[in-house]
Amino acid sequence: MGDVRRRVPRTDVLLVEPRLAAAVAVVGRERVKQAIGRAQQRARRGEIDPGAVVEAAVAELPAGPRVVLNATGVVVHTNLGRAPLSAAAVEAVVAAAGYTDVEFDLVTGGRARRGRDAVEALAAAVPAAGAVHVVNNGAAALVLAATVLASGGEIVVSRGELVEIGDGFRLPDLLVSTGARLREVGTTNRTTLADYAAAVGAGTGFVLKVHPSNFVVSGFTGQVSVRELASLGVPVVVDIGSGLLAPDALLPDEPDAASVLAAGATLVTASGDKLLGGPQAGLLLGAVEVVQRLRRHPLARALRVDKLTLAALAATVGAPVTPVSAALHADVGVLRRRSQGLCAGLVAAGRPAEVVASVAVVGGGGAPGVRLESWAVSVPEQVAGPLRTGSPPVVGRVSRGRLLVDLRCVPVEADRVVLDAVLRAWPVG
Ligand SMILES: *Cc1c(COP(=O)(O)O)cnc(C)c1O
Repeated sequence: MGDVRRRVPRTDVLLVEPRLAAAVAVVGRERVKQAIGRAQQRARRGEIDPGAVVEAAVAELPAGPRVVLNATGVVVHTNLGRAPLSAAAVEAVVAAAGYTDVEFDLVTGGRARRGRDAVEALAAAVPAAGAVHVVNNGAAALVLAATVLASGGEIVVSRGELVEIGDGFRLPDLLVSTGARLREVGTTNRTTLADYAAAVGAGTGFVLKVHPSNFVVSGFTGQVSVRELASLGVPVVVDIGSGLLAPDALLPDEPDAASVLAAGATLVTASGDKLLGGPQAGLLLGAVEVVQRLRRHPLARALRVDKLTLAALAATVGAPVTPVSAALHADVGVLRRRSQGLCAGLVAAGRPAEVVASVAVVGGGGAPGVRLESWAVSVPEQVAGPLRTGSPPVVGRVSRGRLLVDLRCVPVEADRVVLDAVLRAWPVG
């Protein structure tokens, strides 16, 4: 029996095992240590072989989607689940998993407004918003706005802003599906205030301004500001896309909710899991009377978010340093040193890697023209496949016949995990 106990791997050894170390970066050290503790107990009791402790600990961790290390340099990567939640948001989700006061007032014992923590956090972060409502995603926010404010009427929108958002889904189709008609104005590259003014009339539900968050038009261009649109005398709805609540100096062209409302927009719609760095959600911020109508419409019930999302959203807005903001604002010098460390580890093990300057991007989440200066470790392209299918999977970016491993979106505590993963995926010789 004593012999079995001695053969049970120690916690510090298990914490650096690749799969468990990768899990630390995602679900947190405490959660992984609990899983390890339970697996060690089972081994000490003789229920499992000491050699099976790693497997047992992994099995104790949440099943489902596989934890992936994002070494692409694309911060908001739609195919990799967009924004990774902050530790505070993960904790909030775990706490909300049981019975909660999501719609209950503990003081009076009566019903309370659903998700008031999230709503209050958003209202505090954007004082210019009279009221806030949260739905399932950015597309749902637009559908609700179009249904309530323009069903049977017209949405006036520039031809330069009829956007396909991805996977074949197009905003114009989405808007028309609500029963609203689109009144397209202007041209692809230029639209003027006079174009809008000529189209606005008794049948106008609202003027819509959509942020082109996944493309740029350059050259002979012209568009109308929110402030000018607000002078037209009809509601102005602005789909800012990314969910920035306030300006970010790094992204000067990215619209934010506070500025757009201050410029006179009636309503702003946005996603929760792009630059805001929170859970998938759709945010609607704006005039009290309009938001009340949105909240009371029958469709609002169908687009309602669950308590886990509300908990994560409240935590994200309350502590706005998220993995997304950290990756976005990562210090280039630190990224270079981390890349050199990874490269040195590879070279020392006989793999001829090199450190190269690279460019990271925000991704599907916004700021399409912004190039983030970055560094990456360049390895042969053939490593990409084994690295992706290894454990944990590491996804890099293939460029000009090389695989670039960019550490910008990799938690610093997982650098060692990336090194071990590349070594396994790249046999010597
Ligand atoms: C991403 C985006 C949407 C869709 O939001 P989802 O949260 O993905 O539903 C709509 N409009 C714009 C401008 C976007 O960038």
